[in-house]
Amino acid sequence: LLFQTIPNGTTCEGVFDFNTGNKGDLPFKKGDTLVVIQRTRDPNWYRAQNSKGESGMVPLNYITQHKEVKLTAMPWFHGKITRSDAEDLLTPRKDGLFLVRESTNYPGDYTMCVSFAGEVEHYRVIFKDNKVTIDEEEYFENLTKLVEHYERDADGLVCTLTQPLIKKGGHEYSVDTEEFRKSGWAINFTDLKLGTILGKGDFGDVYEGTYKDQKVAVKSVKDRSKAAQAFLAEASVMTQLHHKNLIKLLGVVIPQTMSNDPIYVVLEFMTKGAMLEYLRSRGRALVTSNDLWKFAKDIALGMEYLENKQLVHRDLAARNILISEECVAKVSDFGLARDASFNLQGGKFPVKWTAPEALKEGKFSNKSDVWSYGITLWEMWSFGRVPYPRVPLKDLLAKVQSGYRMDCPERCDKIVYQLMLKCWLKDVNERLSFKQIVHELDVIKPKLLPAINP
Ligand code: ADP
Ligand code: MG
Repeated sequence: LLFQTIPNGTTCEGVFDFNTGNKGDLPFKKGDTLVVIQRTRDPNWYRAQNSKGESGMVPLNYITQHKEVKLTAMPWFHGKITRSDAEDLLTPRKDGLFLVRESTNYPGDYTMCVSFAGEVEHYRVIFKDNKVTIDEEEYFENLTKLVEHYERDADGLVCTLTQPLIKKGGHEYSVDTEEFRKSGWAINFTDLKLGTILGKGDFGDVYEGTYKDQKVAVKSVKDRSKAAQAFLAEASVMTQLHHKNLIKLLGVVIPQTMSNDPIYVVLEFMTKGAMLEYLRSRGRALVTSNDLWKFAKDIALGMEYLENKQLVHRDLAARNILISEECVAKVSDFGLARDASFNLQGGKFPVKWTAPEALKEGKFSNKSDVWSYGITLWEMWSFGRVPYPRVPLKDLLAKVQSGYRMDCPERCDKIVYQLMLKCWLKDVNERLSFKQIVHELDVIKPKLLPAINP
């Protein structure tokens, strides 16, 4: 008999009510969320914690593990290329060779380009009611499902799709909402109560709320276009992350396929909000250098976990660190945490936080996250100043490439500044890793001057 072993930190759900009066056991109801905190010598029992923070023993056969939701790459998706670019790419002509691009004539729509009998046919893919369709008879949740359909059956096209023309470089992803349901992350809207607005996110408002008596943060997205796919991609990345210094995903509300209801992503609630605001509002008088060190260590541990998983965050900054009731710093906003594609034309691109090799050549890596970590340290020790004060954005890359680095923040320990400089080494091989940063922080700790405050 094979036993499944559940790693510490995994989110599970009760499949039956566990009514127990036994001391040391943790009773729960069917549907309750539990986090496994420790294996025991008996493979049938785990120590787990409920949403109220109570812990105790739970039987393995009463719980089910939430599984990871995988993203589906769309290697045949070429983004914004023109009609003639598409025709050039589809050479030599081969029947059934295809690609999908963004429509130039109908913004928001797509175009399916299929090579057949020496020609290229261009079919408009209409985006309508949060779905995509070619013939306005059959609708699909996303491009992947549409492509899969026409790979099985020509269904009105010149021929079936037989061979994708693979895009060079990074690929975009599609997310299947059904996957969230299958893997146990879907939650019912009726279990959720929305409260006041906490902040504005890129996709929609972020609410304070309650999920089954637990205080939560709820991110919402209304439309189901490309932005929604990116939003769900963020949630799917989060299904793979189990670490005390990364924001925990509790679940996703998936609306009925044909409805226009928003998608909600439910996260653990961080009572003290974003670290940037935390530092700005409290300042030197209330935050000690020990507090800053502890936040720096928390962030480094969360990032070391991502580094081990070879996941790149790409948007590490003080605004994306949240602080819990117990003053634990956690990394959030995995919107850009992908393993491949990403374009620089995003508008809101965090230029001042991004490593030069990433800005210039799109080379994002765990080492480019380390650069951003260095900028985040600078923000922390300057209590929320905007980095590179007085340097215009357009001059920044050239300046940094010629060796310019920010000065040591006022009253910041020189050993902390040394660490920042090691995060900003031009050569990525010399630049520290998060594993090394965690170590350096421990070395620094006893040498810190006690007072950053006057
Ligand atoms: P975006 O992905 O659009 O940048 P964020 O995740 O940064 O959105 O959230 C925007 C704001 O909402 C944050 O600055 C913070 O104030 C609030 N917020 C987000 N998540 C949480 C949370 N888990 N707990 C408390 N506040 C949160
Ligand atoms: Mg953000």
